[in-house]
This record gives sequence, structure tokens and C-alpha cells, in this order.
Amino acid sequence: MVNVVTLHRIVDTKIEMFSDITRDLMAGIVESVESVGCEATTLGESFDHSIIAKAPLVISLTFDDGWDSHYQYVFPLLVRLGMKATFFITVNWVGKKNYLNWGQIREMSVAGMEIGSHTMNHPMVTDLKKEEIIEEVGTSKSILEDKLGREIKGFSFPGGFYNREAIKIVRDSGYSLICTSRPGINRGRPGLIRRNSINSLTDLRDLTKIIMPGRLDLLGKEMLHITKGAMIGVLGERNYVLLRNKLFR
Ligand SMILES: [Zn+2]
Repeated sequence: MVNVVTLHRIVDTKIEMFSDITRDLMAGIVESVESVGCEATTLGESFDHSIIAKAPLVISLTFDDGWDSHYQYVFPLLVRLGMKATFFITVNWVGKKNYLNWGQIREMSVAGMEIGSHTMNHPMVTDLKKEEIIEEVGTSKSILEDKLGREIKGFSFPGGFYNREAIKIVRDSGYSLICTSRPGINRGRPGLIRRNSINSLTDLRDLTKIIMPGRLDLLGKEMLHITKGAMIGVLGERNYVLLRNKLFR
């Protein structure tokens, strides 16, 4: 199982956007990951390791948008603890104020961090024509590959918006790790990866639940997507009834 966590900008103290989190919370996240003793690594390695080693839970931290605070605060923290993570870059934002530059992205990539695409301009792909989606998805991949000299496998949809056409274009462009913003835990190697978001409303006390969800939290999250029949198959009828009573009191 792989728990993929979504993060955005890290700020010193002052929250300006819903998706901002403070340095303190970021440090708390990394500490929580360490304290539960989970492997924390890139998306690519997470899915490989979870299958090969059959680890009970692997954690994959993903950072969207390409903020320069990922280089300032997150990268040194991860290196110090021997952890890795994945960073999704909006290519046309590289080098702008508050965003990463190519030198920083290259340094993180060389140190083992995974770099993925978050399009060229961060549009809602559901608003675009087919050719525009192809441009956003395909050109960002080739530019990142040219700049970094390695294959780019990961893609995350800006704002979490997507439709069938966009998914097909992302697949056809050669991405194999396609991230959404749908919450849940991933089993096996899913076609679309679910991610659990941490944002400015996340409390330090909520962290353990997000990082290491208990059985009931997991089942609660995925409940809508699992049919009763499948649940009974997994749990056995008696356990299913006990669980249902617990969840739907
Ligand atoms: Zn974004």
C-alpha cells in the first residue's frame, strides 16, 4: 500500500493561501513519518518497493507547483533524514519570484529526488482544447527531460481537475505515475494515483491520521468506492456487519 501525500508552499509563519503550510508543520510531517517507521520515498520507488517488499505501508510525499521553499526548507530536511520525495514542476514558472530555478531543480534531481510535470502554465486542463492539453502535458515532459537528462514519469493535474480526454493524453504522452487529488490509499500500481492533502487547516494532531491512517480511517475514506460485496469478500460477513455498525451509527 502506498500513501501519497500532497503538499504545496512552505511558509515561515504567515499563511497566505489555503494550501500553504508552515515550516513547523512541515517539520512535524517529517517527524511523524519517521516516528511511524515507514519508508518515505519517491513515487516511482514507492510503487516498486510496495510491490517487491510487500511493505505494509510506504509513504510518498509529493510537492506541487515548484515553490522555492521546497529547495530552502524541504530538500535539506529530507537529505538529513535520508528520505526522498517527488516535486511536480510548472515549467513556465521556473525561475520566477518565489519559484525554483533550473539549478535548484537539477541539484534536487541529482540528489535522488524525483521530478515530475505539473504542466507548462498550470491551467485547468478541463478548460482546454485537445491540442492545448497535448502542448501542456507533452512539452513540459520533453523540456524537463532535456534539462535534467532523465525520464520524467510523474504527472499531477493542476487543481486536481481532469477528464477522460486529459487522462488519455497524459498516458499517451508516456507518463506512468499520474496523480489526482482524490483521497485514499493506493494498492498495487493504480492507473490514477490517489493523494491525501495537507493544507493550512491541517492540525499537528491530525498528522498521524493522515500519515498513518488506522484501519477504520482507511476504510472510511475508501468506503464510497468499494461495493458491499467486495467488502464482505475482504472482511467476511461477520466483520462486515461489525464494521458497518461502527461506521454508520
Ligand atoms: Zn498546482
